[in-house]
Amino acid sequence: MTSVPDGPICVIGAGIAGAAAAFHLVEAGAREVVIVDAAGPLGGTTPAGAGFVARFGADHNRRLGGCTVPLQDYGLAFYRRLHEEGADLEFAHNGNVVLALTTGELDRLATGILGHPEVRDGTRRLGRDEVAEAMLGAVDPAAVAGGVLMPEAIQLTTALAQRELLDRLDATGVEFRWDTPVTRVKTTDGAVVGVETDDGMIEATTVVMAAGGWNAALLASVDRRLPLVPMVATRFVSEAAGLSPQTPTVQCPELHLWLRELHGAFSWGGSFAYRLVSALSAEGLEFGYERPVSQTLIDAQYAEQETIAEVFPALSGLPNVESIQGTPVYTVDGGLYIGEVPEIDGLWALAGDSESGITHGPGMGKLVSQLILGDEPFANPAPFRLDRVDPAAYPDEAALVAAMAEDRIADAANRV
Ligand SMILES: Cc1cc2nc3c(=O)[nH]c(=O)nc-3n(C[C@H](O)[C@H](O)[C@H](O)COP(=O)(O)OP(=O)(O)OC[C@H]3O[C@@H](n4cnc5c(N)ncnc54)[C@H](O)[C@@H]3O)c2cc1C
Repeated sequence: MTSVPDGPICVIGAGIAGAAAAFHLVEAGAREVVIVDAAGPLGGTTPAGAGFVARFGADHNRRLGGCTVPLQDYGLAFYRRLHEEGADLEFAHNGNVVLALTTGELDRLATGILGHPEVRDGTRRLGRDEVAEAMLGAVDPAAVAGGVLMPEAIQLTTALAQRELLDRLDATGVEFRWDTPVTRVKTTDGAVVGVETDDGMIEATTVVMAAGGWNAALLASVDRRLPLVPMVATRFVSEAAGLSPQTPTVQCPELHLWLRELHGAFSWGGSFAYRLVSALSAEGLEFGYERPVSQTLIDAQYAEQETIAEVFPALSGLPNVESIQGTPVYTVDGGLYIGEVPEIDGLWALAGDSESGITHGPGMGKLVSQLILGDEPFANPAPFRLDRVDPAAYPDEAALVAAMAEDRIADAANRV
């Protein structure tokens, strides 16, 4: 039975994870909820997100694991619900195509996705002409071997989804404290008593840390560590290219690429334009509470454009109109962290988004809310526990990166 904690609840971070946690807490009956954010509305990584949402855990080729599928199903349903309730999320249900340039890669993709026990009806292998047809003219069939269609996938504009949640929270009377960095989580006798900010103390008996790329610093304030690897990732939005609004979202592992249609243009990026925050900081990148701006990564993405255009011809020579960067955080085992911070009563964390927080944010928020309120969890929380990995096994970032050798962004993590 739902048991709302006696004292106030403080959520640190108004990104998709924190906003979703607050949303589900309020929906389940919590009343005294305050959200505190170091920046203003839409300040963190969430608006940089490209807005792909699919059952990415139902794929042996990805490291998320089948345990994440209930969260993906929840995310798909949650955004559909907002859309059907009239929210303008620029929601589209166009499916997702995982592209292969070679037949060997097509076999690998098809085995990993179609051979997964959670495979969704309608998921199917596509030949090169079927890819061209599914992609409504965006792909040159001569440049690909085929692909796998994931029909359940949706796409949305991340800032609009985040804005919708913040507006709904505001309407329920949730208090927001903007431009207020939390400097420390305060505990007494092993239990949370509040958070310290530049603007004074906020008392709370329950605190949800959802500070994205900044979680590690907050955990350090309570002498805890998680094996987290923050990186900077880049998204370009091109000039309009006449792409159909029905175009599916795309990933192409061989090109290290993800790409989708947005307002007739390409919204695209890939791990060729990702790098460790630590590596960029060493070359002078300022990493405050603003979204990062790395010209090194912008240049790296431009350098890749004509290669990508061999598959997507309309991208050739097409000017870029927006570069937006954010800080996804990877984990050594490819999973997500959702749960109690060990041995501190009342402290919870949503961390290690593995660059999939738009997909998982609603489910992460619902699950942590159920755990806090003592409700039956809709997904098994065990695989998401914070103590599933011993941080002592990774004494420094080099050890973390070495453990991520199988990750799709391992090349980028090793680039200095
Ligand atoms: C280029 C790019 C493309 C992506 N594409 C996708 C995609 O297609 N699909 C997908 O699922 N995911 C995608 N992602 C990943 C997704 O955007 C992230 O996983 C998600 O936005 C993380 O949300 P969050 O709420 O954890 O963090 P954030 O959105 O960063 O929110 C954290 C908040 O905490 C605040 N904060 C930090 N420190 C403090 C402090 N000390 N005190 C108070 N507040 C603090 C910050 O100001 C921020 O507002 C992409 C990411 C990038 C960068």
